[in-house]
Amino acid sequence: MQDPDETIDCDVLVIGGGPAGSTAAAFLGRAGRRVLQLEKDRHPRFHIGESLLPANLPILDELGVLEKTRALGVYKPGADFPRPDGSYQTFHFRRALGKTPPHAFQVKREEFDAMLFAHARAAGVDAREGVKVETIEPDGIGAVTARARCANGRVLGVRARYLVDASGRDTLLANRLGFKQKNPKHQSAAIFAHFRGVALREGEDAGNISIYNFAHGWCWFIPLRDGCVSIGCVCWPEYLKTRQGGDNAEFLLTTLRMMSHAWKRMENAERIGDVRVTGNYSYTCTRMAGPGFVMVGDAWAFVDPVFSSGVYLAMHSGKQAAALIDAALNAPASERALQARFARRIRRGVRVFSWFIYRFNSPVMRQMFAEPRNILRVEDGVVSMLAGDVFDNAPVMRRVYLFRFIYACQSVLGLRSWFGELLARRRQAKSVFSGGNTPVDPA
Ligand SMILES: Cc1cc2nc3c(=O)[nH]c(=O)nc-3n(C[C@H](O)[C@H](O)[C@H](O)COP(=O)(O)OP(=O)(O)OC[C@H]3O[C@@H](n4cnc5c(N)ncnc54)[C@H](O)[C@@H]3O)c2cc1C
Repeated sequence: MQDPDETIDCDVLVIGGGPAGSTAAAFLGRAGRRVLQLEKDRHPRFHIGESLLPANLPILDELGVLEKTRALGVYKPGADFPRPDGSYQTFHFRRALGKTPPHAFQVKREEFDAMLFAHARAAGVDAREGVKVETIEPDGIGAVTARARCANGRVLGVRARYLVDASGRDTLLANRLGFKQKNPKHQSAAIFAHFRGVALREGEDAGNISIYNFAHGWCWFIPLRDGCVSIGCVCWPEYLKTRQGGDNAEFLLTTLRMMSHAWKRMENAERIGDVRVTGNYSYTCTRMAGPGFVMVGDAWAFVDPVFSSGVYLAMHSGKQAAALIDAALNAPASERALQARFARRIRRGVRVFSWFIYRFNSPVMRQMFAEPRNILRVEDGVVSMLAGDVFDNAPVMRRVYLFRFIYACQSVLGLRSWFGELLARRRQAKSVFSGGNTPVDPA
């Protein structure tokens, strides 16, 4: 292997300049650690994942970039889900049970990520762009080595005491160590683009994210700045494979036409920019940390974007990882315990979202989101979950478990009535074949 043109010694190497990496880097830089952050692309660069959650805001505030985010963003008061008659049900974040802010923002990720990256640099991080990490050897605290290649071909050697893998869906470390597992419960792919001229919701709901379902998946409408609306369809991969001749633009429109209420909002819409497709992306890793390393954000897991949880989970894990690393560098003997606590926490939050995600397209769930009932404030608990309050709030968790119980009951009842109907039909059919005179429903 080529000798490095330059070797850098640092406390922490952060791979990736997305929200997870920039959050971890900025907190560590602020704690006085020597941080090297390497991003293979150059900001501003396109990224999907534009709708933030209220629970993001306290982290942005702590970082000191809340006002910058406000300036970049569109005010998002809630998330709306369609009713069969074409109206919609908004879950307003102000109804959340806990202390999450009453709104979030929606941002163009190229602007948001560039801002976070610049902020990490301002916190003292040696943040470099156009530098791709090619190899990593995490051999415990104080023994991390890596090689990276700059856009101009120069090779960088790195010696670090700790490693943060925030390489997103590239999952650099997980691939290297064989931790990555496709999600057996969930497979989806997405096709998306930006449009202008899309009809927004009326009044205070204008900044809502709207979610629509269709037979092969679901779709989002996310209002962004300057009249731009991000629209994308998350589809089961088999459906996406039916694209004829690979014409993505036509395929996206054909798919949107399947959702008449969504399509109606596009009467005057014009596409701006490319149609992009991302393949099957649902995965998780068997481990989140090990001697001298942690994985944060999508570098550890990604399930599905339906509840816009990705950036929040990325930034939350970035912040938690920074605290873990700072403590572990001070007291290496505590590393295992700190990592175990970190992993338990992150897994718990992801599990809450995952339960809803796996069932989101089921008829019972659709019904419960279209016509929610606020018995014992269960609906407010769901709003809290939608706001990202999935880690520390016991009253929210109680409502979430109650919601799950109601869902199970409704599913059993639905199954019973479906089974009852089936038996009745079979009885009718039998009596006809055996000469009985029970009329058969022609349907
Ligand atoms: C279709 C779709 C829609 C989504 N919608 C939403 C949404 O509305 N709201 C939401 O919150 N989330 C959404 N997400 C999820 C969101 O995109 C991610 O969860 C989020 O970007 C994760 O942040 P991250 O920092 O972990 O990774 P990323 O943002 O992917 O950042 C990783 C960075 O690492 C860099 N990198 C990779 N490999 C290397 C390397 N070898 N060397 C150096 N740099 C490297 C990459 O260039 C990248 O900049 C969506 C995801 C998909 C697929």
